Amino acid sequence: MTQYVYRFGGGVSEGQAGDRNLLGGKGANLAEMSAIGLPVPPGFTICTEMCALYYREGERFPDGLTDEVATGIAHIEKVTGKKFGDPADPLLVSVRSGARVSMPGMMDTVLNLGLNDETVQGLAAASEDPRFAWDSYRRFIQMYSDVVLGLDHDAFEEALEIAKEDKGVHLDTDLEAEDWERLTARYKALVQEGLGRPFPEDPHDQLWGAIGAVFGSWNGDRAKTYRRLHHIPHDWGTAVNVQAMVFGNRGDSSATGVAFTRDPSTGERAYYGEYLINAQGEDVVAGIRTPQYLTRAAREKAGARSPSMEEALPEVYGQLAGVFETLERHYRDMQDIEFTVERGTLWMLQTRTGKRTAKAALKIAVDMAQEGLISEEEAVLRIDPLQLDQLLHPTLDPKAERDVIAKGLPASPGAACGKAVFDADSAVQRAGAGEDVILVRVETSPEDIHGMHAARGILTARGGMTSHAAVVARGMGRPCVSGAGAISIDYRNRRMRVGGREVAEGEVITLDGTTGEVMFGEVPTVQPELVGDFGTLMVWADSGRRLRVRTNAETPKDCRTALEFGAEGIGLCRTEHMFFDPDRITNVRQMILAQNETDRRAALDKLLPAQRGDFEEIFRIMEGLPVTIRLLDPPLHEFLPHAEEEFAEVARVSGTDVEMLRRRAAELAEANPMLGHRGCRLGITYPEIYEMQARAIFEAAVAVARDGATPPLPEVMVPLVATRAELAIIRALIERVAATVFEEQGLEVDYLVGTMIELPRAALAAADIAQEARFFSFGTNDLTQTALGVSRDDAGRFLGTYVEQGIFARDPFVSIDVEGVGELIAIAVERGRRSRPDLKLGICGEHGGDPASIGFCEQVGLDYVSASPYRVPIARLAAAQAALRKAKG
Ligand code: PEP
Ligand code: MG
Repeated sequence: MTQYVYRFGGGVSEGQAGDRNLLGGKGANLAEMSAIGLPVPPGFTICTEMCALYYREGERFPDGLTDEVATGIAHIEKVTGKKFGDPADPLLVSVRSGARVSMPGMMDTVLNLGLNDETVQGLAAASEDPRFAWDSYRRFIQMYSDVVLGLDHDAFEEALEIAKEDKGVHLDTDLEAEDWERLTARYKALVQEGLGRPFPEDPHDQLWGAIGAVFGSWNGDRAKTYRRLHHIPHDWGTAVNVQAMVFGNRGDSSATGVAFTRDPSTGERAYYGEYLINAQGEDVVAGIRTPQYLTRAAREKAGARSPSMEEALPEVYGQLAGVFETLERHYRDMQDIEFTVERGTLWMLQTRTGKRTAKAALKIAVDMAQEGLISEEEAVLRIDPLQLDQLLHPTLDPKAERDVIAKGLPASPGAACGKAVFDADSAVQRAGAGEDVILVRVETSPEDIHGMHAARGILTARGGMTSHAAVVARGMGRPCVSGAGAISIDYRNRRMRVGGREVAEGEVITLDGTTGEVMFGEVPTVQPELVGDFGTLMVWADSGRRLRVRTNAETPKDCRTALEFGAEGIGLCRTEHMFFDPDRITNVRQMILAQNETDRRAALDKLLPAQRGDFEEIFRIMEGLPVTIRLLDPPLHEFLPHAEEEFAEVARVSGTDVEMLRRRAAELAEANPMLGHRGCRLGITYPEIYEMQARAIFEAAVAVARDGATPPLPEVMVPLVATRAELAIIRALIERVAATVFEEQGLEVDYLVGTMIELPRAALAAADIAQEARFFSFGTNDLTQTALGVSRDDAGRFLGTYVEQGIFARDPFVSIDVEGVGELIAIAVERGRRSRPDLKLGICGEHGGDPASIGFCEQVGLDYVSASPYRVPIARLAAAQAALRKAKG
């Protein structure tokens, strides 16, 4: 019989401790902590497979589960010595979700389950603390009504506010047992009103309701959004963890807290966390009370007065520090921990690999390798290449003026600048319209996720370093300043006030998530450098890498940036932009609209010196590295004049009349330009264009070779080739021009002629085409477009839905569609190499900077990938990881 329930705690650890697929992340780690002897309250996990089964059975539980859950409850009863539903001294449990990977804020928790009108009396008597008992009961009703019964939690919050007002107090802690008891009655009335039936009194009904709600929340909107954003399969399902309650709200020797074994923001080797004395569960993360620091050093650094845990509860703190060390040694990674202290006894409620900023990830990986905890290879494999993006963008110029208006906590590092918005929907709207926005909220909640995603940065007035805003922002790599208490936000009028100044929606502010500063206006930025831990890790990565990494660049600035980031050549220099240059466009238009070859050549002659100059500059910057220059590709009509003055200008320069130009322009318009007169089709029909470009390349190469130490290595690339015959014609043209230029100049340089493979026919005919090509570069943007029959320009309208429905796991324009496009690449590699063993193979579509696609490129044995300049370090790391993973099998 299949087992669905796995017990842990009290010396028991069933199932494969650490099996996240089965037990979910939380359940697996509870079992594992229990197995290594850490204090974990006893409980059991209903495995993730049950979630799938539950949905398959039409949201019903299979028969056998009842008995298994009963066995689980019996286990908790045995370890705690309490009975579920016992009116004298009841066992209370928590019910939490736990998917394979943590989904912060996405799933819901119920605490204190098992309380009812009878057992609350027992709890009051057994704890000798009626206030605690009634407070626990009302919390339970509030959470259960929200999470399980789906009632609007605002009504409950309002009732609590009224209770405090009636008594003339501000804090929850000022309410006494009778107040909570009265509030409980009010809450139950709210349930009766909202639901038309009473709050469930039977603890078993409560338990099954909560279990169903956890499974239900797997398909809630928040969870679905999170999974879509993080590419988590919808069929994984969640586990349910039922665990004995321990209480951090039983007086001043009780506490609850969250901690990281190292600083998740900087990676510093220092315990890091927050706690609250006499508090329960979510109080720390909810940002309701301002939490206190864990360590004395952190408290002193922040200049805070409330004692740290190290000072207030030194003994338990010492025990906790020991647990941190055990956990790091066991998991060999930084851990994110939740704990509770009940009357001086420490309980571990959760551990998981801690989310961290890119900066912290690098420091932790490099430190742990140097501490001997992990190997250098593991350090390289630990870093998410895409996360490096956080460090590859400009940071605030330290020399720039800052008009600081507020200071909060440095919750997630990096600089962000944008227009202030005060709700998530506006953030999404404005970002969709191309604006940079900063989402400003009193505090964030899971309902704000889409807005946080759309924003450049996040600012909150409330909440600590582990508040929802801070945790989620770090996970997303968004700079965040949290808990900027001086800010007062006026949602209704869409503005915030701070120190007598006002920021209205749409006004620009800048955040420094590294210092916690909030500034008026835009602050200038500086380029990042690959130094320190980043530099060290890149050295380790490069030693494990086989694939070369080039860049897609055509401006001197991009070439230099890419070189600084370690590019080993140019994989794609698109010559189009050189044609679009405002100084040249009129000549380009004249060339295109010319009626005959002579007029066209006259226009091209004017373009030649400019092209030659561009290439010379690039060759000099790249100093002997390979430079792939692609001959002109875009559809002709893209260059056509549109405005009246543009036609007039071309007419003036070429000495023709506007009417004729208009007729010619109309002739050139295409119904489907993506599949029209572009790529080598241009070179075949107007050979003089490619002749001019080839001449510019070779004249530039000769000029640089003549006075440079290392001669350049031009690789002339022909776009959109479908047949060998096309390439043969253009190759002959290029070779003819090269020979002429070398003859004229009395100097030769090495060069290669090759082609892009960006049409399915070219991939299939690779053996034939390779006879004419020294290299292939996979143009996976067009290859994806043509293999899938999906227009690059129009895909946005429906691809989102496709990804949402799982038709594609990822957007195929972002990550290679391995089964289709990948298969074409694999065929072309195999046939091309068979036909020409020394064929050079690379990729220059956007996929060349996507880690998953780079993994594929390693698998099929390409020689290099080419990525945009800021992606070069990401590609270097991804290439190293791909090689290391391949070696491991
Ligand atoms: C491609 O098609 O993948 C490519 C690199 O060329 P472009 O994006 O310029 O069409
Ligand atoms: Mg292309």
